[in-house]
Amino acid sequence: MIAKYNPQEIEKKWQKRWEEDRLYEVREDDPRPKWYDLTMFPYTSGDLHIGHWYAMAPSDVHARFKRMQGYNVLHPMGFDAFGLPAENAAIQRGIHPFIWTIQNVENMRRQLRSIGAIYDWSREVVSCLPEYYKWTEWFFLKLYEAGLAYRAKAPVNWCPHCQVVLANEQVLSGGFCWRCGAAVTRRDLEQWFFRITKYADELLEYKDTVWSERIKTMQRNWIGKSQGTEISFALDHSGTKEKEIRVFTTRPDTTFGVTFMVLAPEHPLVAVLTSPDRRAEVEDYVAKSRRLSEIERLSSEKEKDGVFIGAYCINRLNEEKVPIWIADYVLLSYGTGAVMGVPAHDERDFAFAKKYNLPIRVVIAPAEWSGEELEEAYIEPGIMVNSTQFNGLSNQQGIEAVSEFLEEKGWGKRTVTYRLRDWLISRQRYWGAPIPMIYCDKCGIVPVPEEDLPVLLPEDAEFRPTGESPLKYHEQFVNTTCPRCGTPAKRETDTMDTFMCSSWYFLRYASPNCDTAPFDADKVKYWMPVDLYTGGAEHAVMHLLYSRFFIKAIRDMGLVDFDEPYHRMFNQGIIIAEKQKMSKSRGNVITPDEYVAEVGADAVRAYLMFLAPWEQGGEWNDSSISGVSRWLNRVWHLVLGGYSQKEKTNPDVRQKAERELSRITHQTIRKVTVDMEKLRFNTMISSLMELTNYLVKVKKTQVVASSDWEESINTLLRLLAPTTPHLTEELWKRTGRDYSIHNQGWPQWDEELVRDEEITLVVQVNGKLRDRITVPASITEAELPQLLLERAKRANAYLEGKKVLKRIYVPGRLVNFVVQ
Ligand SMILES: [Zn+2]
Ligand SMILES: [Zn+2]
Repeated sequence: MIAKYNPQEIEKKWQKRWEEDRLYEVREDDPRPKWYDLTMFPYTSGDLHIGHWYAMAPSDVHARFKRMQGYNVLHPMGFDAFGLPAENAAIQRGIHPFIWTIQNVENMRRQLRSIGAIYDWSREVVSCLPEYYKWTEWFFLKLYEAGLAYRAKAPVNWCPHCQVVLANEQVLSGGFCWRCGAAVTRRDLEQWFFRITKYADELLEYKDTVWSERIKTMQRNWIGKSQGTEISFALDHSGTKEKEIRVFTTRPDTTFGVTFMVLAPEHPLVAVLTSPDRRAEVEDYVAKSRRLSEIERLSSEKEKDGVFIGAYCINRLNEEKVPIWIADYVLLSYGTGAVMGVPAHDERDFAFAKKYNLPIRVVIAPAEWSGEELEEAYIEPGIMVNSTQFNGLSNQQGIEAVSEFLEEKGWGKRTVTYRLRDWLISRQRYWGAPIPMIYCDKCGIVPVPEEDLPVLLPEDAEFRPTGESPLKYHEQFVNTTCPRCGTPAKRETDTMDTFMCSSWYFLRYASPNCDTAPFDADKVKYWMPVDLYTGGAEHAVMHLLYSRFFIKAIRDMGLVDFDEPYHRMFNQGIIIAEKQKMSKSRGNVITPDEYVAEVGADAVRAYLMFLAPWEQGGEWNDSSISGVSRWLNRVWHLVLGGYSQKEKTNPDVRQKAERELSRITHQTIRKVTVDMEKLRFNTMISSLMELTNYLVKVKKTQVVASSDWEESINTLLRLLAPTTPHLTEELWKRTGRDYSIHNQGWPQWDEELVRDEEITLVVQVNGKLRDRITVPASITEAELPQLLLERAKRANAYLEGKKVLKRIYVPGRLVNFVVQ
């Protein structure tokens, strides 16, 4: 009687044993080459859902695979523990953010243990603990010393009724306060920034990295580098000394087609240029646009609207008067805050001109254009018209010629702009790393001395739903003395964006207990860069870009000696349920705990990898996970069922069967190894299932030698070990092998054995034997023409110049060409 496969029992048992034995503890003095597999650390939201497992189980499989391949593998785990949800929970449920967060960490730790991953828990990092955020503050000081942190005015959401700052999430759609419903305005506050723009060009390079084009494109678009020309339009207005409005364009060749100018509603010139009869309408519009977020303003769904302010500027190229408008799709913080309107050659400008009946003048002629009105904007290349001395040039030549002319006249200059802006890191919140700065009336801004770090979050802060940081009202926290002159001074009460905490956590894993520095430089040198970083594509821009900036900044301080933190980046897809994204409100959230209790963690791991290509993600399906669970049961019985070779077998038959067994086994090793390297887990599982089925068949016939059979079972278990670590450990032990399977080497395939059996194929032309060629036994008809071309030289000579009427193929035996 074979014992029953009981995953719940064996999983708990082995997890305990591995932990007691410190099987997965990692050291830097290990002679094996290092490998760093990193999964994005989870936010401490409370419960792990199946999406977390989808991020973590496959990456653990890969880490285990590298470990068996002979690497010293670091695959750590930690928690991204600061942030707004903890603070909201504090306000709503009266529970302190620290307690809420630590409770969540404990629950998530328990859930993460049930995955059976190789996390070395002695290296755990929790970003909200003082021993961690002390160093987040320290890095802030270093960035400040390097001139990369500065203070400037920036708009925040402001409720004039509640008199508080609102987070973006607290502004309801349409721009209303979540508490009182009043219209939210934008207000300028002094806030802290990191000068990420200094690294804009280097962030466009990805030196020695393997990243998908998709993610690189998203980052490039976010950085938005564009080469173009800044053009000055003349201004002659009694209300201001300003004599020009500057615009940036990538299409200076269309400057003769400008029929209006658009300023951002916040542009400082708006107030002085607006004519008295337009004032009321303009002020209304400005107030309305202040209520919209940037995302809403730039949304392609939103219809573009604007208001004429009753003033004009002059297009110097043709001395035309150009009416000035304001529109909310122009942002003051991008470029110059002004945009020239060329409706004939820009889709947005075309729609705007149609809406307000502004002239549309063609200056780049489409092919075969004969002066008729355009149905839509023409943005393709063409020949310049209506452009005086530039007429007849191609618009590509025109870009150069017009720019050169403007530069000669002093009316413009070629320049490069970026969409990327400096990183605003101030948050008016409690639950974040304090910004270690002090304001003194005499000395100005004074950094907290390093030896005074960490600036601790006071434990007795009061959480009120004001939207402002409780630190602001905590007198003991706010009031301090100036480290420079000793007079009373005030602390900064803003805390740092949590993306600052996640910009360096992967360095901390190298030496999590280091208390003299954020990390031990030698250990970071040993582990970094991360060899494979995996996580959701939603982090393509912010986290991945910020942490790349951070590494470049501290490299320039001499703290690290590499340029990029992550060598290879891979983004997994998402799991949906009932054809929809999982969400609490839809009630379709899949929680792993119940499945672990029912079919075991190994089945959940294997199923997640089997259900779809990892980068795509797919639909969770209960009946498919049962199928995977049955497969694991089959493996259990296959391995424990025993094997005895049939006594009386024809030696030829036996030899053939043994050759086939070793060929299929070695082919599977190759397939699984290649799939593991490429993170193609779904096809990897398929080949393991095929191998299982094949072995079940072999076992029934019992024609191969017991030793060959044993070798195949041994291989199957090792190939399965990363995917189903508990099941394979148990089977390894039950079949009398030495603990632990996870310390075994990864199986190697033999090229000779992988090669298919070969057969001789007869080649006939009109029924006469003309050639014999050797081909793999597995040849398919589709592969035939190529092999014939390469190998049937003699037959090909007979075919030359003849018309082939028909090709008859008898699999494994012959091919006959009927020719004329
Ligand atoms: Zn309000
Ligand atoms: Zn002072």
